[in-house]
Amino acid sequence: MAKGKHRTYADKERDGEIKRLKDALKRKDREIEKFKSELKTLEAAFQENIRFLKGKTAKLDLQELLKGAQKEQSLKQIETEKEITFKELEDKWKCHKCTKGILKFIKIPRQDGIFYMRKCNNPNCKHTTRLKKWETTVEVS
Ligand SMILES: [Zn+2]
Repeated sequence: MAKGKHRTYADKERDGEIKRLKDALKRKDREIEKFKSELKTLEAAFQENIRFLKGKTAKLDLQELLKGAQKEQSLKQIETEKEITFKELEDKWKCHKCTKGILKFIKIPRQDGIFYMRKCNNPNCKHTTRLKKWETTVEVS
């Protein structure tokens, strides 16, 4: 085809485009090689981790693993129960003035005995309950 003297502008354009594409292809090839080598490194690390974990768990038997799982389960249950109790207390001692704060128990020892009241913990609310004589039956929360 058109070579030498008879090369037109369009030919040169096309040759330039081909060279650009070849260069781009080379760059992509180099990238692929780089990714392949990274993948190899990651695979090796992964295999190493598997070997490590297998080594760690080899001595544990199934019963022990199950026991561990059960322990975790009951810990989760306790956590949930605690959360529920906390929520109940929160609802019980919610400040009705601002509806945001919680009434906190405050013990006040005086010369004429021990008194108590509850004060809202919302800094923008000054609500307190009446001062009352402390008795052992009073709920502290
Ligand atoms: Zn309040």
